[in-house]
Amino acid sequence: MAETPVTSAGTAVPETVPLSSVTAWSDEVDVLVVGFGIAGGCAAVQAAERGSRVLVLERAAAPGGTTCMAGGHFYLGGGTAVQQATGHQDTAEEMAKYLTAVSRDPEPEKIRAYCEDSVTHFDWLEGLGFEFERSYYPEKAVIQPGTEGLMYTGNEKVWPYREQAVPAPRGHKVPVPGDTEGAAMVIDLLVKRCADLGAEVRYETGAVALVVDDSAEGDGAVVGVRWKRFQETGYLRAGSVVLAAGGFVMNTDMVAEHTPHLAEKPFVLGSTYDDGLGIRLGTSVGGATKHMDQAFVTVAFYPPSSLLKGIIVNKRGERFVAEDSYHSRTSGFVLDQPDAAAYLIVDSEHIEHPKFPLTPFIDGWESVAEMEEGLGLPSGSLAATLERYNEHAAKGEDPDFHKHPDWLAPQDQGPWGAFDLTLGKALYAGFTVGGLATSVDGEVLREDGSVVPGLFAAGSCASNLAQDSQGYASGTQLGEGSYFGRRAGARAAGGVL
Ligand SMILES: Cc1cc2nc3c(=O)[nH]c(=O)nc-3n(C[C@H](O)[C@H](O)[C@H](O)COP(=O)(O)OP(=O)(O)OC[C@H]3O[C@@H](n4cnc5c(N)ncnc54)[C@H](O)[C@@H]3O)c2cc1C
Repeated sequence: MAETPVTSAGTAVPETVPLSSVTAWSDEVDVLVVGFGIAGGCAAVQAAERGSRVLVLERAAAPGGTTCMAGGHFYLGGGTAVQQATGHQDTAEEMAKYLTAVSRDPEPEKIRAYCEDSVTHFDWLEGLGFEFERSYYPEKAVIQPGTEGLMYTGNEKVWPYREQAVPAPRGHKVPVPGDTEGAAMVIDLLVKRCADLGAEVRYETGAVALVVDDSAEGDGAVVGVRWKRFQETGYLRAGSVVLAAGGFVMNTDMVAEHTPHLAEKPFVLGSTYDDGLGIRLGTSVGGATKHMDQAFVTVAFYPPSSLLKGIIVNKRGERFVAEDSYHSRTSGFVLDQPDAAAYLIVDSEHIEHPKFPLTPFIDGWESVAEMEEGLGLPSGSLAATLERYNEHAAKGEDPDFHKHPDWLAPQDQGPWGAFDLTLGKALYAGFTVGGLATSVDGEVLREDGSVVPGLFAAGSCASNLAQDSQGYASGTQLGEGSYFGRRAGARAAGGVL
């Protein structure tokens, strides 16, 4: 049989291997997990805790994939120990209302399970051997700079969501300072737990094709994989296969096909093996996909949070978003503007320079008229926008976009400065969020909603809670990857979470 190459590009769907053609197996296990990131690690631990023989294939020489790059926000709520210790009321119902409100195509069963189990999932994560610090970071920021355990990481206090669900902070950060690589700590703990439970991890070994039962009674069930390790290849038999192989942001062909706006100017965030092979393995056996055209794309212009008191206008000099939105929501709206152009305008009383220099400072002007000219805005447009904003902001109101009163302040103290949020000028970054359609237990679903027997998916190669930029809250990827990874592992092992 022709060998399927492990490609880091291309949209080719790997050919499946008929069971009847396999003459020898290198191993036989109950649950085979493809990829050791947050989703695969959690699936493996959960399956092994249920007594299954578990093997994880990891294509890289080390575990962790994109998870090891992540700052370490987990979106959790409903009354976690950190929320309680820091005096924040929350319930599973309010959390579910919020996640439903921000989803473009909410999956009620998944949202309900995720929210109702959030506290026990928090406890399970801590049971791996770390503690989220019982502390709260009150600033509006991208991520806590230190080890503070909790902050707002979404649009909970942003209109209209604050009217649809009682706001609560749910961004739980692992106790590692800084904005990247914190989640690597959780991977280390998952590796240790796998070893304690006897789940083997085989590195530099990639799954390259799925083996399918081609007998009359086989129902097209997935019963194993073909693997490749350098020049060596073989077949591995498994009761169930869990795909946890990451997203596709590093596959230029898949990005061009599905999320072309990500191909143009943003800087892509991911590890080498985010090449969509996991998704393509799933589609090779009829698995459907969801939200493949969606991506998390963002440029954060804050902190400092005083910049949120400014206004953001498009090329017509008009506001178009509540400026206190979570940065990827604001970014999503910017990308919808003419020429994806936008400017953050701040007066001299509130201006500071962004902590992360991702949005270039354009210039400062003594008068609004000069600023309009400098930015190429229609004459009088910015003046009218500022006048209306300032008049209402002075009364703590924003009838147009309902910006929270905390961030309302008249911008009437010249000179005024402008930062460039335009795509191509500001440094946008992003990753894909679409993936295989799955049930609440991670079973891969066909287009007609039926289950592909023997096949599960979780993490970035599946589609769950994170569905687009505008509804994204930091922590949903690690949150859903870990939670639905566990559910997939439990069901793959023949049980339920
Ligand atoms: C800089 C940065 C910061 C981030 N911060 C956060 C954050 O704070 N909170 C949050 O929720 N999200 C964050 N994210 C997003 C989040 O990190 C990812 O969405 C998440 O880690 C994906 O987990 P995963 O298990 O699906 O994939 P990964 O962690 O990428 O794991 C997949 C693994 O599968 C392996 N693999 C791939 N193909 C195969 C194959 N064929 N055979 C065997 N193995 C294979 C890969 O090598 C990899 O190790 C951040 C992302 C970046 C880039």
